[in-house]
Amino acid sequence: MQGGKAIIEQSTEPKRILVTGGAGFLGSHLCDRLLAEGNEVLCVDNLFTGRKQNIYHLLDNPRFEFMRHDVTFPLFVEVDAIYNLACPASPVHYQFDPVQTTKTSVVGAVNMLGLAKRLHIPILQASTSEVYGDPTVHPQTEDYRGNVNPIGPRACYDEGKRCAETLFFDYWRQHELGIKVIRIFNTYGPRMHPSDGRVVSNFIMQALAGEDITIYGDGSQTRSFCYVDDLIDGMVRMMNSREGFTGPVNIGNPGEFTIRELAEKVIELTGSSSQLVFKPLPADDPLQRKPDISLAQQELGWEPSVMLDEGLSRTVGYFRELMASAS
Ligand code: NAD
Ligand code: UDP
Repeated sequence: MQGGKAIIEQSTEPKRILVTGGAGFLGSHLCDRLLAEGNEVLCVDNLFTGRKQNIYHLLDNPRFEFMRHDVTFPLFVEVDAIYNLACPASPVHYQFDPVQTTKTSVVGAVNMLGLAKRLHIPILQASTSEVYGDPTVHPQTEDYRGNVNPIGPRACYDEGKRCAETLFFDYWRQHELGIKVIRIFNTYGPRMHPSDGRVVSNFIMQALAGEDITIYGDGSQTRSFCYVDDLIDGMVRMMNSREGFTGPVNIGNPGEFTIRELAEKVIELTGSSSQLVFKPLPADDPLQRKPDISLAQQELGWEPSVMLDEGLSRTVGYFRELMASAS
């Protein structure tokens, strides 16, 4: 979508940037990237699923500041741009306290949009492929409106993120705010929480421990897995994209794999003797998912460069070290 008077300054000057959810998996990598580019970073996180370990290496950096804060409460700071990532992303965690999950997406968006409006600064929303629900269009293009069950166990996350998108576009139409919305597809890599519950971390941890690998359903459901470095690059390109380009834009790796294929790859890469075991498929678990990334290619000159085998090897290396340091 285009148009609107975006209040975005296309400057390469270092900025003071707010990253909400900055101690999480993606947020901590984003903080690294923004600091490496010479910016100052204010990392705001309530540490619900994020961890101080993810940002320990940044705490001595004079351009980095950590603030423990819940985005469902207003925040008064002075910054030049906002990346809004605060929200648990793993189904296990976002279903733990579903009311808080919806509040984080919706009230958190209102608070961060209000801050952006007061300061006249650009704001990027980390939305999700979950806005497409269990998709009936494949691969998913940004104009597909989705198939979400509004009363199911995933709705706190899916509908929260959909409402956050609505708020972003209303602030854009009503207040001419410079918004940028990306829809992130399953992303994996170092710093995922080992007990995060998402499929890549679960399978790798199970394989390294020699435990059974838990496949939900028959493993024929598909996902498209993006390596974290590629994702962060797409996110930063979106924030720096041309004035008036709001998205939503899909950011993900179009390589599509069944969950069973993923399990077999993990077993092969780890040399594990783990066995596959099959458990019931959770309610509303999407059966297929694959991004159409034509818009990201065209507008951002972006496409992923790390393929699944390479990304999984790097992630296995991370979890091996983590397990070794814990023992
Ligand atoms: P994560 O759980 O590792 O990170 C989320 C961070 O937000 C955590 O540090 C958590 O403590 C923090 N947080 C949660 N609620 C908060 C609140 N109320 N106030 C302040 N901080 C809060 O997950 P992630 O994978 O890094 O995901 C980051 C963002 O990207 C999320 O918004 C998620 O919805 C989105 N996303 C991620 C993926 C993915 O595959 N990783 C896919 C789609 C969308
Ligand atoms: N999954 C699985 N075993 C696990 C964890 C997840 O088979 O231990 C499946 C899950 O049912 C889903 C897919 O893997 O079909 C991706 O799950 P994840 O929680 O990583 O993310 P989602 O895309 O469902 O939000």
